[in-house]
Amino acid sequence: MAAISERIEKMAPSATLEMAKKSRELIEQGVDVISLSLGEPDFDTPQYVQDAAKKAIDERYFKYPPVNGYLELREAICHKFKRDNNLDYKPSQIVVSTGAKQSLANIFMSLINPGDEVIVFAPYWVSYYEQIRLAGGIPVIISTDIDSDYKVTAPQLEEKITPKTKLVIYSSPCNPSGSVFTKEELLSLANVIKDYPSITVISDEIYELINFDGTHQSIAQFDFIKDQVIIVNGVSKGYSMTGWRLGYIAAPQWIADACTKFQGQITSGACSITQRAVIEAIGQSTDKVSYMVEAFRERKKIVIDGLSQIEGVICNNPPGAFYVYPDISYYFGKSYQGKTINNASDLSLFILDHGRVSVVTGEAFGTDKNIRISYAASDETLIEAVKRIKEALSLLA
Ligand code: PMP
Ligand code: GLU
Repeated sequence: MAAISERIEKMAPSATLEMAKKSRELIEQGVDVISLSLGEPDFDTPQYVQDAAKKAIDERYFKYPPVNGYLELREAICHKFKRDNNLDYKPSQIVVSTGAKQSLANIFMSLINPGDEVIVFAPYWVSYYEQIRLAGGIPVIISTDIDSDYKVTAPQLEEKITPKTKLVIYSSPCNPSGSVFTKEELLSLANVIKDYPSITVISDEIYELINFDGTHQSIAQFDFIKDQVIIVNGVSKGYSMTGWRLGYIAAPQWIADACTKFQGQITSGACSITQRAVIEAIGQSTDKVSYMVEAFRERKKIVIDGLSQIEGVICNNPPGAFYVYPDISYYFGKSYQGKTINNASDLSLFILDHGRVSVVTGEAFGTDKNIRISYAASDETLIEAVKRIKEALSLLA
């Protein structure tokens, strides 16, 4: 009988995309749902970037670009690393892909052998887990909670390292918690990693620009482990370019070469027009897009102020990304009309059914007491959403 592969059979669908689909379907059926489930800025891509894409069409960038990206783009990315992060990379160490999601898949497929362990800091972004398993790796989770501000410490990391550990992955600023590692915290993690030269760290910095407290810190700044670090970044979040599909890595040369080899058989590289637009996007000062961060700062305040007035919701106040990740375990065991809330998935579905707001269960991110709320929506929408969540939760007793 015809059947899909075991590999896909065993794979969980992306919870973020599934929840977004579910709310889209409800909206299409005429249900007034507020979707706070997708991590997607609601701004238009900046005009100067749109103009660069139009120019690229006029200039007839219609052919296959080089697999790892146009040299001009890779040079612009190196320039960005120097300008914004004081990091030196050669263009040959950069691989441009169809989104950071693809960059991550390239890395896992290029580095993991079956049975290799990948340490994943939890809460983690949904796709890490499934991509690691797809490559035959074993995700080894280090759990955190709101008490530690969802941050893994150096001793916790060291404890999970085994001879099979191949990779360590985290995002900072973090999706879903919004937490950001300080320079000191990264240094203590780096001091652990340096003792294990066969381990590579994947530092997912896609929320670099959405940082409310100041300058971005990358673990690659510590020269003594730079050869063990892959930076993943992209333009989806900071430049509001989710649909354009472009991400990139900066990596040791042998890893960049492997990712290019893999990509050459899988996608042939990122869209030519997008690449030309991104040369312009990241070529300019980040001041050009700081208005988005300022808007997110205000929105975070609205959400946190609102949530803090709801009984039993313990909300973090994260310095980065555009999510809050409240602990909602207070509601476990409570019921409404014979339906008991046993976990975060039950609660997120309850909020959808009774509050018509879609959020994502923490279980998708590897923690079981939380929900993720994306505040990449207008002020009015957020005020209404928080009101609805409050009303829905007040039904539970
Ligand atoms: N990493 C993290 C932490 C994310 O939240 C996302 C979500 N978009 C990605 C990677 C992938 O981004 P994209 O493929 O849109 O570049
Ligand atoms: N990264 C975003 C999120 O976490 C977009 C959805 C996705 O790519 O999975 O919601």
